Amino acid sequence: MTPADIQGVIFDLDGTVYLGEAALPTAPDAIARLRAAGKRVLFVSNKPLYPREDYAAKLTRLGVPATPDDVITSGYVLARYLARTAPDQRLFVIGEPPLLAEMRAQGLDVVADLPGDAREVMDASGIDGVVVAFDRTLNYRKLNIAYQALMRGAHFYATNADKACPMPGGFIPDAGATIAALQHITGRQVDALAGKPSSLIVEVALERLGLPPERCLMVGDRLETDIRMGQQAGMWTAVTLTGASGRTDAKRLQPPPDFIVENLGELAQIVSGA
Ligand SMILES: [Mg+2]
Repeated sequence: MTPADIQGVIFDLDGTVYLGEAALPTAPDAIARLRAAGKRVLFVSNKPLYPREDYAAKLTRLGVPATPDDVITSGYVLARYLARTAPDQRLFVIGEPPLLAEMRAQGLDVVADLPGDAREVMDASGIDGVVVAFDRTLNYRKLNIAYQALMRGAHFYATNADKACPMPGGFIPDAGATIAALQHITGRQVDALAGKPSSLIVEVALERLGLPPERCLMVGDRLETDIRMGQQAGMWTAVTLTGASGRTDAKRLQPPPDFIVENLGELAQIVSGA
């Protein structure tokens, strides 16, 4: 196998294709060149904040034309997974309104709150599963309901396990912080994780591309999610130094990624020779 055998390229978004509201240098042109060379392209985000339509619109706005079918998010993957494996569960979701809407659109029974005083032991007996996602409206009430449900044996699901989310100027706490808090206070572990590096998101990505993993390249800026997922799935991997990882960390990873590139322009050259 040589890089010329790569037929599908899966891109992480934050820190790989764009940062905040700006495309990263060379990214739009590089993706256009890969598409022109006949490569299938897919975008994967761990961020469950918005529906796929919004990511497609943002990519298009930043110069990377995309449709909702070109995008997979951890929220979409978890909603699909639960609709298939646990369609009758009543779910308490720690998440923001667009995620709740996406889960309900898949036919899931989602509750965002329960009656009762959050300063007391709340009755979570009707909850079959707790979903933890990136939620910037997280509060004590949500934490208490999730805790009570998990202590009663509810299933424990998460969209993504990122500790912090990159923002212009730094990072803000992500779902990993909430997962860690609930694991700490319940002594339990997450039963199913949808986002990178989980195999659930890989399955959806490969199904969408219609390719075997050895024909695919996973491109991202995070070693512990993007690169680890690609390696576990048997894909080619490339780390771009435009986001969370530096060259020293990337070189130190065992096994190392197949490619370490300054930006996507360099990657397009390797994969398409263009
Ligand atoms: Mg990233």
